[in-house]
Order: sequence, then C-alpha cells, then structure tokens
Amino acid sequence: MNRGPARNQGPDQMTQDLRIGVIGTGMIGQDHIRRLTHVLAGARVTGVTDTDPARATAAATKAPGARVHASAEALIAADDVDAVLICSWGPAHEAAILPALAAGKPVFCEKPLATTQEACLRIIDAEVVLGRRLIQVGYMRRYDAAYRALKATVDSGSIGAPLMFHSAHRNASVPEGLYTDDMAIADTMVHDIDVARWLLDDEVARVRVLAPKRNSVGKDLRDPIFGLLEMRGGALATVEVSVNIGYGYDIRGEISAEQGTAELAESNPLVVKGNGQFAGRVPADWRERFIAAYDAEFASWIAAARDGGATGPSAWDGYAIQAVSDAGIEAARTGETVAVTLVEKPALYA
Ligand code: NAP
Repeated sequence: MNRGPARNQGPDQMTQDLRIGVIGTGMIGQDHIRRLTHVLAGARVTGVTDTDPARATAAATKAPGARVHASAEALIAADDVDAVLICSWGPAHEAAILPALAAGKPVFCEKPLATTQEACLRIIDAEVVLGRRLIQVGYMRRYDAAYRALKATVDSGSIGAPLMFHSAHRNASVPEGLYTDDMAIADTMVHDIDVARWLLDDEVARVRVLAPKRNSVGKDLRDPIFGLLEMRGGALATVEVSVNIGYGYDIRGEISAEQGTAELAESNPLVVKGNGQFAGRVPADWRERFIAAYDAEFASWIAAARDGGATGPSAWDGYAIQAVSDAGIEAARTGETVAVTLVEKPALYA
C-alpha cells in the first residue's frame, strides 16, 4: 500500500538528467553547484534559493539554466526540480526537509540533519510514514577511499574484532570569535562520531570529553578537546579535536583490533627526500582533503535519487549523531560521563 505522496516524476525525460534545486548558496552550496555543473554527469542544477537573493542570483549564473526561487517552498514545489539539495544553516534544515518529503522528492541534506534531537525525530517520523528512504545526510567521510578501505578491512575480519578506534581531527585554524567551544563538538567532532559508529557498526552508549591545557593560539577557545566514546558493544573510540594546529588539515584514524591494526595512510601521494629529510604535503583544509569524497558522495546520491530513493548516511544516522553531539556538549560542560539515549530504531533504517 502506498502511504505517502506519489513518487516524483523523476529525471528530465529529454536529457535524463536529475534536476536539482539548491537551498542555501553559501560556501558549500556554491561548491556543490560547481560539482554538479562541471564535475559529475547525470544531474544539473535547475533552481536555487537563498535568504540573500543577490547570493542566489550570483550562484545561478554558475549553473546554466538555473532559476532563482523566492523561497525554499517555491523551489521544492517547482515542476523542474526532481530532488532537493539543502545547504542552508542547520536550524533551517527541518523546514526544508519536511516539505520535500511531502512532495516525494529525494533530499540531500548537508550535515547536520537538524540541530535538535526533537527535530531529527520529526524528520524520521515523516520518512517512516512515507515508507521509504528519501534522505541522505552529508557525512562524506564514508565516501573517502581511505576510510572505505579501513571499513572493508574491519568488515573482512582479517585483523579480528575491532576494540578501539582512534580518531584525530586537526584544523589549521578557525575564525577567532566566530568558532565557539560547542562547535568543536557540534560542527567538527560530529564527523568523527559518524565514522566511529560506521566503522564499529555500533551506537555510542556514553560520552566523556576532557580538555587538556589550552592551545594558546586560540586564546580563550577550549582547544584541543579529547572525546571518549564508549560503544554499546564495549569498544572504545577516542577523538582528538584540535582546531588551531597551524600546519594544515590532518585527519587520522586507526582501528586497533584483536589481531592487528589498520590506519589511514597519509593522504599525500608524494614523498620528497632531500637534505637528510623527507616531506609531503598536508592538505590545507577539508575541501582539499575530501574533494574526491564529496564527488563520490554526490555520484552516489544522484544514482539513488534518479531511482527515487536514497542511500548512504540516513536520517537515523543524523539523529544518532545529534544525540551523541548533545551528550558530548553536556559532558564537556560538566566534566561528567553522559549517557546517550536513543529511541528504538525504526525498521526502515535496519
Ligand atoms: P554558509 O556559507 O553560511 O551558507 C549558508 C547559506 O544558506 C547562506 O547563504 C545563508 O544565508 C543561507 N540560508 C540560511 N538559511 C536559509 C534558508 N532558510 N533558506 C535559504 N537559504 C538560507 O554556510 P556553509 O558553510 O555553506 O554551510 C552550510 C551547511 O553545510 C551547514 O549545515 C554546514 O554544517 C554544512 N557543511 C558541511 C560540510 C561537510 O563537511 N559536510 C562542510 C561545510 C559545511 P544567510 O547568510 O543570509 O543566513
């Protein structure tokens, strides 16, 4: 029985392109428009909207044929929009996702799914009523070749059962005064929380967050921080977040298992030796480090959305990560170990 709205008509019958409407044309919205227009096949941007109409108009000039819509609602309702890409700020995500689901249009939502667990659960409820997945959330590390190799190694059983995952998330710098203590968890650590759950195939049961001596570069910012995630099955994940490390954007990840270890190699493909030293490039930022992962993530979304569905990180993942993030923020403020409580997982996300 079909309990939801009729399926969207699907890709343009003439070009077979998936026609995408983009909500939010700021930094990452513009980067995804470039990706969809110049890098990937099978899709094109046909509509854009932003709270700043001038920004939307400028973004539309980068996507031939794209129309500017006055609101997210108008964009979602447009006949020439098959699927919706949400790149607005987190508190606006729910208000865009729900009407897109009601219209039966596949959604790619940049992380976070929403900024409260209650909002995440309203989104989950709407998707469950629909009876099929339409939402992919932008946790792109799962599409990075090195993380995929790490996941395949763990899943193969070749190093035995995983016991610990050590993650480090190091940014060269963050804007002083704009980046807050809580953002180290809600904006930054969420990616490590995502891959910890994915690699260990488990949910987080408890969180503790420690703050060592501050990095003086960040002045009053609580930086770095160290998160300890206890998984339900007993494995541990440790996460260092350092956001003023200076030397570049450095992502580390290692699984320690019963019979071996596996770790992400350097992302730099070239090592130069001279003057008694060896050297290689460290990525400048997350765009450089994960550019191929974003491309793979969107190729996967386009394929699934053209079939009227969704794959990859789900609304459930978005909700579970939000719950861990909330617990982490409380743990950082109180110094306590904070339990993560999740609702029962709907069968749709099994
Ligand atoms: P940004 O540069 O501030 O862009 C967001 C844009 O959305 C702004 O132009 C903003 O306009 C607009 N906007 C806000 N609310 C809107 C609404 N209700 N309808 C239409 N437009 C709206 O932010 P960003 O860095 O691109 O980040 C956007 C999202 O992507 C965030 O959720 C962020 O966490 C996520 N992100 C994910 C990754 C990743 O690694 N996956 C990386 C970067 C960002 P105003 O400026 O007028 O508010």
